Amino acid sequence: MVKDIKTFQNLEDEVITTNNCCACGACIAYCISQGFDVIKMEEYTPKFISNKNADNCKECGVCYYICPQTKPLLEQITTKYQIEDELGYIIDYIAAKTTNEKIKEFGQDGGVVSTALTYLFERNKIDAAIVSEKDEYWNPIPKIIYNKEDLKKSAGTRYSISSNIIPLKDIYNIAQEIIKEKKHIYDVNQLRIAFVGTPCQCRAIRKMQFLNISPSHLIEFVIGLFCMENFDHEKLFEIVKDETNLEPLNISKMNIKKNFLITSKDNDLKEVELKKFDDAVRNHCHLCDEFTSKFADFSVGGSGAPRGHSSIIIRTEMGQEVIDSLISEGYIEKYSIPADQKSSEWKNKKLNLFKRMNMNKINKNK
Ligand SMILES: Cc1cc2nc3c(=O)[nH]c(=O)nc-3n(C[C@H](O)[C@H](O)[C@H](O)COP(=O)(O)OP(=O)(O)OC[C@H]3O[C@@H](n4cnc5c(N)ncnc54)[C@H](O)[C@@H]3O)c2cc1C
Ligand code: SF4
Ligand code: SF4
Ligand code: SF4
Repeated sequence: MVKDIKTFQNLEDEVITTNNCCACGACIAYCISQGFDVIKMEEYTPKFISNKNADNCKECGVCYYICPQTKPLLEQITTKYQIEDELGYIIDYIAAKTTNEKIKEFGQDGGVVSTALTYLFERNKIDAAIVSEKDEYWNPIPKIIYNKEDLKKSAGTRYSISSNIIPLKDIYNIAQEIIKEKKHIYDVNQLRIAFVGTPCQCRAIRKMQFLNISPSHLIEFVIGLFCMENFDHEKLFEIVKDETNLEPLNISKMNIKKNFLITSKDNDLKEVELKKFDDAVRNHCHLCDEFTSKFADFSVGGSGAPRGHSSIIIRTEMGQEVIDSLISEGYIEKYSIPADQKSSEWKNKKLNLFKRMNMNKINKNK
C-alpha cells in the first residue's frame, strides 16, 4: 500500500500559507483538467473551492508533486535535463535580434520569443502557444492563442505574476472550438503547444512532463525567460506612481536594466533606482535560486545582450533546431562577435556574467 501521499492540504500548509507559492497555476491546471472539482485560483492563491469541495479530493498527490516549490521530482528532472550547475545544461549561447519590423517595435529586448513563436506557427510546428497578454492597467493575462496574429498582444514584459500554466485547466473544454477552427486537428490530444514562462513555471511544466500527466503531454516546446524577480502588481504600480507620477494607463513600456526604466505613452523615459521597488518583490522570489530557466528548450533574456538584442541559451536539441532555423531562414539576425574578440572568450564572458547574476540573486535572498 502507498503510504503518506501528500495532497493539496500539504501544499497549502507547506507552500501556500508560507508565502512560497509562485502562483504558476500547475496544481489548479492539473486538478481542474482532470475534472476533479476541488481547488481554484483566487487572486493568485490556490484554494479549496469550499470545505465541501475539499471532500472531492482524490488524494492523488499530483498537485503536490508537480509544484515547482516542492522537493519531489526535482532530482529526477535535474538529472533528465543534465543540470550540473546554476546555469544548467548549455549547448550554445548567442545574442540575436528579430528581423520583423513589427516585433522590433513591440518586443521587450530582441523580440526573439515572439519571433520564435511566429516561426513555429508559420512552419506548422505548433497549433497553439501559451503566453501572457496584458490589460490596459498592465494586469498580466495568461492565455492560450492559436495564431501568430495574436502575438502582438503578448510581446513585451509585465513584471508581475502571470499564472501561465492556468490556461491548461480548460484545455479539454475548448477542444471542440479548436477542432472547428483548425481543421487538421480531430482530437485535443493532437494539439501541439509552445509554452513561454518564467524559470519556476518551466520547472513545473517539466515536473508534469516527467510524471507524463495530461495535459502537459501537449507541450512541445518550452521557452524560458530569464527572471531575477517578480513584483506584486499593486505595490509595483504604487511605487511607479510615487516615483514617476505615471499611472498604468499612461505607460507604454517597462524594462529592468540596471534601474527600472519606464516609458510613458508620450515617449518620456523615466528611470527609477531598482532598490526602490524592493518592498514590492513577491515573497517567493526571495527564496528563488533560478535565473536563466534551466529547464527550457532555450532561454531568453535581455541581460548580457548588446542593445536591441536578446541573450539566448540553447539547451536541448529541439531548442537548437528552432534557433538554427530562425537564423538560416532569416527570422532573426545573430549578433556578430567583434573581430578582435575570440568567440569562445566572448561566450564565456557572458556565461560568467549570468553565473554572477545568479549568485547575486541567491546572496541577496539569503
Ligand atoms: C517577471 C520577469 C522578470 C524578468 N527579469 C529578467 C531579468 O532580470 N533579466 C533578463 O535578462 N531578463 C528578464 N526577463 C526576461 C525579459 O524581460 C524578456 O522577457 C526576454 O528578454 C525576452 O524578450 P524578447 O524581446 O525576446 O520577448 P518578446 O518577444 O517581447 O516576448 C516576451 C514574452 O514574455 C511573455 N511574458 C510577458 N510578461 C510575462 C510574465 N509576467 N510572466 C510570464 N511571461 C511573460 C510574453 O508572453 C511573451 O511571449 C524577465 C521576464 C519576466 C516576465
Ligand atoms: S485531487 Fe489530486 S490534484 Fe486535486 S487537489 Fe486532490 S491531491 Fe491535488
Ligand atoms: S503548483 Fe504553483 S500555484 Fe500551485 S501551490 Fe505550487 S507554486 Fe502555487
Ligand atoms: S524570481 Fe523565481 S520564483 Fe520569482 S517569478 Fe522569477 S522564477 Fe519565479
